[in-house]
Amino acid sequence: LESRSLRSQRLESIGIIAGGIAHDLNNVLTPILMSIRLLQKDRPGVDKAALLKTAQASVERGSQMVRQLLSFAGGIEGQRVAVETSRVLDEVLSLIQHTLAKGIRIHTRLQPSLWTVMGDPTQLAQVLMNLCVNARDAMGNEGEMTITGENILLSDPPLLGVQPGPFVRITVEDTGMGMTAEVVERIFDPFFTTKEFGRGTGLGLSTAMGIVKSHGGGINVYSEPGRGTRMTVYLPANPDAVRSLGLPIVQPIRPGQ
Ligand code: ADP
Repeated sequence: LESRSLRSQRLESIGIIAGGIAHDLNNVLTPILMSIRLLQKDRPGVDKAALLKTAQASVERGSQMVRQLLSFAGGIEGQRVAVETSRVLDEVLSLIQHTLAKGIRIHTRLQPSLWTVMGDPTQLAQVLMNLCVNARDAMGNEGEMTITGENILLSDPPLLGVQPGPFVRITVEDTGMGMTAEVVERIFDPFFTTKEFGRGTGLGLSTAMGIVKSHGGGINVYSEPGRGTRMTVYLPANPDAVRSLGLPIVQPIRPGQ
């Protein structure tokens, strides 16, 4: 396992890379916008073919960037080791805690003997970090962040593409501004952000989704404008952990979970 400081360094570098990409994207969009403006003016003597070629080249560079980014986020190189989700959560919480306003309270409810998950500890930490950062940013100066971790046996998974079986379910809940249905629909799109310029890259949740899917899991969203948001991550449990720790009692699923 990676040491804790190494892991937080990698978390930080992932954030820096994401920031750099947002900057590069701007550089890609500028020539497209300029070409469109010149074409709209439709002045005689304007080389339309050259402008279209410039715009096309920029679009191609942009889509190349997105592809690179998604493969980076999807973690082709991801490890597959038994990850203690509760330890990853503790690490993420100790990192985020320093950045919270005084009026934000954190509650953690981790079931004892949480199953392990086969996966990449740094990527999974990145997922939880992104969810916690969003919960923090949604709340401003006051609010409550609740993090839960539990073992659950899903016979009928509430998410498309997830196979029935034993899962570790992690929820990150906040009492922040919440989201409208229109926003919820777009939050997993790369570069979608409602945060002010320089604060959000719009890559947090698309990266998180890429990682969780590559682990065979899924993410569910439940949000009410003005009330808060609950993000639920399902990760398939490590079969060895399930064998040694046993199955839980099947629990009913609350709305949005
Ligand atoms: P970023 O955080 O850089 O904006 P994300 O992909 O992490 O990018 O999130 C995309 C958008 O989803 C955010 O800008 C915000 O509008 C919305 N969002 C995500 N999580 C929450 C949350 N917990 N509460 C309210 N809005 C959220």
